[in-house]
Amino acid sequence: GIVVENVSKRFGNFAAVDSVSLTVKTGCLMALLGPSGSGKSTLLRLISGLETPDSGKIWLIGQDATYQSVQERNIGFVFQHYALFKHLTVRQNIAFGLEIRKLPKAKVKRRVEQLLNLIQLEGLGDRYPNQLSGGQRQRVALARALAVEPQVLLLDEPFGALDAKVRKDLRAWLRRLHDEVHVTTVFVTHDQEEAMEVADEIAIFNQGHIEQVGSPSEIYDRPATPFVMSFIGPVN
Ligand code: ATP
Ligand code: MG
Repeated sequence: GIVVENVSKRFGNFAAVDSVSLTVKTGCLMALLGPSGSGKSTLLRLISGLETPDSGKIWLIGQDATYQSVQERNIGFVFQHYALFKHLTVRQNIAFGLEIRKLPKAKVKRRVEQLLNLIQLEGLGDRYPNQLSGGQRQRVALARALAVEPQVLLLDEPFGALDAKVRKDLRAWLRRLHDEVHVTTVFVTHDQEEAMEVADEIAIFNQGHIEQVGSPSEIYDRPATPFVMSFIGPVN
């Protein structure tokens, strides 16, 4: 899994992530939930290697990854505005990472068809990104991230730019996908309902630190701090 040990990241004098420790068990889907500016994306960037911590350690699959490059970490990412390659079809987008790794053509083809099936876009493999809906594009982005079989999947508000109805569908879809693929996943959101529905465990962020980690029902039934109580509140 992922182990974050006393990790801090400052920008100037401001601690965006302040001595955070967090364990994400292998195969678990963990949501980082908290208000805007609480440090969720910064922690995700630290796990990915896009940022280096000022102090503390990050372990991925039992290895000290604190100073590993992004490429060394074997991670898949999807961001809110994840740009697919516009000039490549869905199939070519999904195949991109596999071709870079010089996998045999037949193998690439097989894997791409499997992934199209997994994201339930079998008929749309030859379309270009601008011929897809926003939700379909994010599913392709997920397939592309999963294509290289990453050990860890990091999702930063992947459905944030989509309308409420599509978000709801994709939540349920992501949950089913995770039940099939079981890759260790960290999912950033500021939407408590989304976290509650999708995650095995939720870490509640506030001002650069974690207030509570627990299953959705633990967090909901037994909020550990006044902040968690007010942030979770009655589902609206
Ligand atoms: P949101 O829900 O709005 O995405 P977040 O929880 O993801 O918020 P972060 O993006 O992690 O928050 O930012 C945490 C804090 O660190 C914010 O106050 C932000 O302004 C600051 N911050 C993040 N990146 C930088 C940077 N590169 N330089 C300076 N400050 C930064
Ligand atoms: Mg963010």
